Amino acid sequence: MKTIDKIYVNGAFVTPHGTEVAELINPSNNTVIGTVQLGDVEDTRKAIASAKAAFKSFSQTTKEQRLEYLQKMYEAIAKRQDELTEVMVREYGGTLQFSKMSTLNALNSIQSAMETLKQVELVRTVGQSQVHMEPVGVVGIITPWNASNSFISNKLSTAIAAGCTAVIKPSEMSALQTQILTECLHEAGLPAGVFNIVNGRGDVVGAEISRHPDIAKISFTGSTQVGKSIARNAADSMKRITLELGGKSPNIILEDANFETAVPLAIQAAFMNSGQACVAGTRLLVPETHLEEVKKLVKETVEHVKVGNPQDADTAVGPLVSKKQYDRVQSYIRLGLEEGAELLTGGIGQPSGLEAGNFVKPTVFVNVNNQMRIAREEIFGPVLSVISYKTEEEAIEIANDTDYGLQAYVSSSDEKRAHQVAGQLHAGRVLINCLKHDPMAPFGGFKQSGLGREYGIFGLEAYLEPKTIIE
Ligand code: NAD
Repeated sequence: MKTIDKIYVNGAFVTPHGTEVAELINPSNNTVIGTVQLGDVEDTRKAIASAKAAFKSFSQTTKEQRLEYLQKMYEAIAKRQDELTEVMVREYGGTLQFSKMSTLNALNSIQSAMETLKQVELVRTVGQSQVHMEPVGVVGIITPWNASNSFISNKLSTAIAAGCTAVIKPSEMSALQTQILTECLHEAGLPAGVFNIVNGRGDVVGAEISRHPDIAKISFTGSTQVGKSIARNAADSMKRITLELGGKSPNIILEDANFETAVPLAIQAAFMNSGQACVAGTRLLVPETHLEEVKKLVKETVEHVKVGNPQDADTAVGPLVSKKQYDRVQSYIRLGLEEGAELLTGGIGQPSGLEAGNFVKPTVFVNVNNQMRIAREEIFGPVLSVISYKTEEEAIEIANDTDYGLQAYVSSSDEKRAHQVAGQLHAGRVLINCLKHDPMAPFGGFKQSGLGREYGIFGLEAYLEPKTIIE
């Protein structure tokens, strides 16, 4: 049992004013593994005041000084990366494979921030003017639980690169990971107030951050619904906002693809992080002429996916984060059956022998129509919808017929054709015959998948305000 009873404000671990205590539950067996004392509005205001005070001098630091802080941050996290991975597995049931990758992403994002800071011109000549790129101010960082350390590391390192200070509200369900990350950041020796971390509820701490007039910018990753409420709250003080929201990513297998490799890749894309990924490829679009072949390959592949203990190196699907999320996913599987989709594999209930935790059977529906709710709404569990198409034009139309636009996938053996299709997809990122992440390239969504971009120069510029000086 781990008791987390401190938040991090103004360079120190302090007891929160808030007294509410939440339980931390291991999703593999639903036992309580810890508690976290939650901060309240007063704690949030103190954290914001501390970040505001620190901004005065931190905004004046040089590139070189900030690079040095980022390097120290990187080293402190790298030292404890195994521990961070292990806690991710225990705390939210992330598989060992995914959790390792997520910790690596955290480190890569800091390197990306350093690289970008080296490249960026903070003073530019534009027309006949001089443009100074100035840090925007105090940044509010609000993150979900599904790759917590990676999101916090990316957002905070970009803020630091820009010369901003931050108040961070992680998910209540990531408190153990957050504790280790906070210890690393403390060890990195950033000046007091540059970062503050307040554990707390979204509707309390998160809402206060999104309303507070001293917060200049919000960087949020989470659901589209909460993203919209943050945008509404932020409007009153005209905060800058970057929103990384939900998805319902299409995965188009073109008829010339190598189906033997495209199908396993599609299953990986659908079930990564046990389906709890914003970029999960949850709509598999296959040519009608190859439907039977795809069904056979999908069934074979999915029935070999190892579901179980997330600590095992070969587990591909672990438990879902909470009982609530488990129930939600079950209700979508029920809905799929009610809507008339055909169950190819998986279904309602838990895999046998795994009844103690929040395990879901990897589920695939075929004969799905893109108007069904299972094809339109983000399920956030290992549930894949297979939709058949007649022509390439129809595939593109179905792929784009969604409120979301975060990521899309294309499989083809013809590079030119794959690029032509990618060019017509309404998505912030398109992956062709691969599953990759590039921490220097912009990442973010079209449509209701978000606003703005993270990573690299696009990410950094969202933390900077251009000031034009004309003489
Ligand atoms: P969530 O939206 O419920 O919560 C995200 C964060 O917002 C949490 O810290 C939560 O406490 C906080 N929050 C809740 N209500 C709030 C409010 N009223 N004001 C301010 N903050 C509030 O999301 P979740 O369940 O933690 O995560 C899953 C969602 O995140 C999925 O929709 C997924 O697609 C999305 N996501 C998006 C990306 C991306 O990069 N686009 C990445 C990962 C997850």
